[in-house]
Amino acid sequence: MTRSMEQIPFGRPMIGDEEQQAVAAVLAGSILVHGPKTLAFEEAFRQFTDAPHAVAVSSCTAGMHLFWHEHGLGKGDEVVVPAQTHVATAHAVALTGARPIFVDADPVTGNMDVSRVESAITERTKGIVVVHFLGLPADMTSLAMLAKRHGLLLLEDCALSVGASLDGSHTGLWGDAGVFSFYPVKHMTTAEGGMVITRNQDLAERLRLIRAFGVNRTHGERATPGVYNVPELGFNYRMNEINAAIGIEQVKKLPGFLTKRAENRNTLADALADIEELTPLASGNDRVVHGHYCLSTLLPQGWEAKRSALIKGLKERGVGSSVYYPHPVPRLDYYQNQYGYRDSDFPSAARISDTSIALPVGPHLTPDHMKRIATAIKETLVGW
Ligand SMILES: *Cc1c(COP(=O)(O)O)cnc(C)c1O
Repeated sequence: MTRSMEQIPFGRPMIGDEEQQAVAAVLAGSILVHGPKTLAFEEAFRQFTDAPHAVAVSSCTAGMHLFWHEHGLGKGDEVVVPAQTHVATAHAVALTGARPIFVDADPVTGNMDVSRVESAITERTKGIVVVHFLGLPADMTSLAMLAKRHGLLLLEDCALSVGASLDGSHTGLWGDAGVFSFYPVKHMTTAEGGMVITRNQDLAERLRLIRAFGVNRTHGERATPGVYNVPELGFNYRMNEINAAIGIEQVKKLPGFLTKRAENRNTLADALADIEELTPLASGNDRVVHGHYCLSTLLPQGWEAKRSALIKGLKERGVGSSVYYPHPVPRLDYYQNQYGYRDSDFPSAARISDTSIALPVGPHLTPDHMKRIATAIKETLVGW
């Protein structure tokens, strides 16, 4: 290729001078953990989501594991888990010794098929974890009713749903808790990090305790410096001050990031509308505000090989893409070896994994980039 072509990466962390200065200021001081930045970040995120309580943790996975651990999950227990999600949603359950019971996706939205949840519930079921797939709020009214009727815990994996709400309530506030991810290519980043939000004050206090070894006093609360007690087992799942300082700046920019995502998503959806091979996953209804992590679209049935060719064709034209997620979790080797697997148990999750492609809409891109993505798809598909 002779002429240089501007690349359109799938995702890119939006780190600016503000984040760099905030990190430099933390490093210039002496408090790297247990400090004011973490508290200020929790407060900023709490306000953004309008949550009563927010607890910062080292990752979304850590936050979900803390939640299940705190509720005493273990061997012999079961949790209903979407088949179409990041492996972390299932790992957080399996790490406690409990068994994830996978439920297939709704092929139109990618969210867990709510009509299949009830038949997955047994006398061993302790909870349900729901994922707001790629930022589309799940049907929380039905799931909350179901959880209540069966006396189950309800956890929301909000890793891709910051900014997404249902009936005016932010995702994460519908269940017992919601957990967010600040991994580099998510809606906002702290490099690594997570946040648990909840309406339950006792739970928030318990999570604060066990994210830091179960130590019963933070530095500020110790009557005699260095002296504390440990009433129980705990983890080291804290967020540090460097991550929190980045997070404070990112929350300030989050409304702008989300506006750009929505603009890009709309432009891209319009530009793709006349490509008949594409069936974008549903973008919701007037009850929801979508987080627009990306625009994921199904290709025709049987297009496994053509999907690879399309990804390659886009790459040659400078367009990054991704697949969410490349396997239904129960098909991943670890879970397949544990519990066995048949594609016929999860046909919609398998369809999404095998014949969808995720296109970028992040705030590092503009509507002009969206038009270039559509053109690149059309050029690649010519003659197929
Ligand atoms: C990214 C992601 C996670 C994992 O988040 P970490 O912060 O890396 O632990 C969990 N669930 C979903 C749905 C994700 O997309």
